[in-house]
Amino acid sequence: MKVKAYGTRGSSPVARPQTSVFGGNTTCFRFYSDCLPSGTALLLDAGSGLVPASRDLAAEGIRRILILMTHYHHDHTQGFPLAPHTYFKDVTVQVYGPKEYGVGPREMLDYIMQAPFFPVDFARVASHFECHALENIGCEVMVIHPDEGPRVLRVDDFERLQGEGSAGVVGLSRAALEESLVIRMHKTVHPEYTVSYRFEERPTGKVMVVLTDHENTDSLPLDLRNHIRGADLLVQDAQYDRSQYEASRAGFGHGTGDYAARVMKETGAARLGHTHHDPSADDDQVEAIVAESRAWLRSNGAPARAENVFACADYQEIEI
Ligand SMILES: [Zn+2]
Ligand SMILES: [Zn+2]
Repeated sequence: MKVKAYGTRGSSPVARPQTSVFGGNTTCFRFYSDCLPSGTALLLDAGSGLVPASRDLAAEGIRRILILMTHYHHDHTQGFPLAPHTYFKDVTVQVYGPKEYGVGPREMLDYIMQAPFFPVDFARVASHFECHALENIGCEVMVIHPDEGPRVLRVDDFERLQGEGSAGVVGLSRAALEESLVIRMHKTVHPEYTVSYRFEERPTGKVMVVLTDHENTDSLPLDLRNHIRGADLLVQDAQYDRSQYEASRAGFGHGTGDYAARVMKETGAARLGHTHHDPSADDDQVEAIVAESRAWLRSNGAPARAENVFACADYQEIEI
């Protein structure tokens, strides 16, 4: 499994010489796995990083794009209207995301692509989109098989499928499950909720978790701990340094480097990559937050090697 970051900036895109190392696109990640059907690309979020990601997918001849949405704040959706594949009718775009306050992926796309906000109504391009509202976050699991593509199972069916002696349930065999990419979802605090996705590549046992737009919590809830536990890579929101957070940013829905380090240690995650960098943070300030993460780990008796605690950068590829 491999991930490529196309957008690691939070809140708004930026472009200035002082941000050239980590980049200025808002959130978009691409996941590579042998469990994906051929010709299919898997993405998380559709910030401005979706635009260059979409150009790469077009160059590769990708025919099906599966996009998982954490939530619908502008910095996670603003790539849709200008991504080339939004207008390629021969490419199927499957968008999965939460539904809250009556808004799921379809309602979000209808809203952001309409006059007077944008000259093309979503209805004009909707025929090659498939929008799937996830209304039971935490009670459903997505399974992507290389031959059969994605399907969403109820957690109890999934647990039965994993159970001792199970041959299969709901049209999926136990053997097929072990050939699949399993994606678990967990509601987290933003302060509205966002969805954290946990990717488990069954054939290799590799695990990656993305936890973005998540605010520090005093206690780390057991269900969140279990969701992240044992990840080979945790990509986590670390927008602020400790002094910024305490001075004025608590309650804005984002985290700090020392909190991300604590989550890493308490869940046994092997590597930590910061994301959702603050738009006002220059490269040296992003590095300073990484230094806070490493310092927290060292002062709490955990290793903090540079290759294991870092800030994600636009266009960086990370092997898992
Ligand atoms: Zn955000
Ligand atoms: Zn947000």
